[in-house]
Amino acid sequence: MKKALVLGGGIGGSQAAIALRREGYNVTLVSNRPYIYAYPISIWIPTGEISPEDVRIPLDEFSKSWNIEFIQDEVVRIEPETGKVHLKEKGEIGGYDYIVLALGQVKRKEKGIENTLSICGTPEEAIKIRERLQELIKKGEGRIAFGFGGNPKDKTAVRGGPVFELLFNVDYYLRKLGIRERSELTFFAPMPKPGERLGEKALKMLDELFRKYNINKITGKKIKEFKENGVLFEDDTFLEADLILYTPAGWGHPVIAESGLPTNEAGFVKIDETCRVEGFENIYAVGDCAAIEGPPWTAKQGHLAEVMGEIVAHNIAVREGRKKGELKSYKEHINILCLMDMGWRGGGLAYRSDKRAMLIPIPVLGHIMKKLWGVYFKLYKLGRIPKII
Ligand SMILES: Cc1cc2nc3c(=O)[nH]c(=O)nc-3n(C[C@H](O)[C@H](O)[C@H](O)COP(=O)(O)OP(=O)(O)OC[C@H]3O[C@@H](n4cnc5c(N)ncnc54)[C@H](O)[C@@H]3O)c2cc1C
Repeated sequence: MKKALVLGGGIGGSQAAIALRREGYNVTLVSNRPYIYAYPISIWIPTGEISPEDVRIPLDEFSKSWNIEFIQDEVVRIEPETGKVHLKEKGEIGGYDYIVLALGQVKRKEKGIENTLSICGTPEEAIKIRERLQELIKKGEGRIAFGFGGNPKDKTAVRGGPVFELLFNVDYYLRKLGIRERSELTFFAPMPKPGERLGEKALKMLDELFRKYNINKITGKKIKEFKENGVLFEDDTFLEADLILYTPAGWGHPVIAESGLPTNEAGFVKIDETCRVEGFENIYAVGDCAAIEGPPWTAKQGHLAEVMGEIVAHNIAVREGRKKGELKSYKEHINILCLMDMGWRGGGLAYRSDKRAMLIPIPVLGHIMKKLWGVYFKLYKLGRIPKII
């Protein structure tokens, strides 16, 4: 049986591992965390609506379900020419027929970033946000700034959706506690139209929501530096804040660039349409670590990472002649699909493709749908139910 090595046990890597098993490969998965982290539902950790454990799918359970070998370790270096991979604890591993890179992305470094926390950071960071929020709640008042940054070198690596979700969820939570009037919530972003990739309708709806919920907005101003007590903009105006919840744009995983693999200017690994790394026969990449090429509104998303995982397994099997059919391209699957949550008020179902841009408000039920998606995600990752979308 041919052997495949998947590096990174997140949303895309886990799906690549499942799909490769289904195609009959012997799969080893290396990941530094002992669990798959379901980022889309982690937005409820800060408000206590979900516990950190509910967001984690143990990789030992996952690997048993799919008969996959799991190694918990950190990848420190990849030798693309020899196929050897160096792990922090276990040293060198090798002898695999295929390597699939699924290491995700890291955050772009910005001045004073240590004074901020991000909902798109490590799982521990989401817990820290919760603690800091609780401190403000105890005080009974506070100024919270929510923002996200842009990446001029790769526009697909901007993550705004979860920041809006966190903002609306915190707003809802503070209202429920009866302290919203004594709290000041401000949204900030350096681009003039943050959220525009979802289309004009979405931008209008966001503006209406900001007005309705009394959320201040500062957009189109570059950020100079984050200070302990606020955000300094390039025009030297200062936004005072007790808590800064900021998500910088993404950047390529350093292990990939340091291993001499081909990358774009932002450090994301270059792949062809079949997800194969440029210049290498047996190395593929999926999800956030890859340079995605598509229309200007393209974004790195979990559902695309999963589709890429499936495509990799399919294309490997077709290239080997084990399976009949055409090679598949990830580009046909580029769209934006997200349920932007606003707490128990509901959510907005956002969809963007070449043909369509829509945002459908779904009061209350939208929130329930996202919760159900969390349950569904866990069940299909553990092989208890089939994956349907
Ligand atoms: C808060 C939040 C909400 C989101 N909501 C949505 C949504 O509603 N819909 C949607 O489609 N997308 C959403 N996304 C985006 C989605 O989560 C990502 O696109 C997706 O996780 C990408 O999958 P991935 O496998 O490429 O990376 P990841 O899921 O980040 O997985 C990377 C894995 O690699 C491991 N790893 C990293 N470095 C190493 C190393 N050196 N050695 C070993 N292992 C390593 C990590 O521990 C991790 O397990 C959201 C993201 C965030 C942060």
